[in-house]
Amino acid sequence: MIKLLLFAGVLVGVYYVFFAKKKSLSGPKNDVSMDEAMIPCATCGTYVQAKDTLMSTGKYYCSSECMEKKQ
Ligand SMILES: [Zn+2]
Repeated sequence: MIKLLLFAGVLVGVYYVFFAKKKSLSGPKNDVSMDEAMIPCATCGTYVQAKDTLMSTGKYYCSSECMEKKQ
């Protein structure tokens, strides 16, 4: 029984370290769920991952061509 408790404690410790590392990798300002969110291009409406979008004057674009068209 004590061995089981120790094993559970190790698992929790490993999980905590892994979680903390993952958080620090993405940076304090970046939310992981935000990176994975799909955002529509302001010009053509194509949904692209937030991390792949280009932002200009508060709007998101899928490519530099769309950003230049700006409707
Ligand atoms: Zn576009």
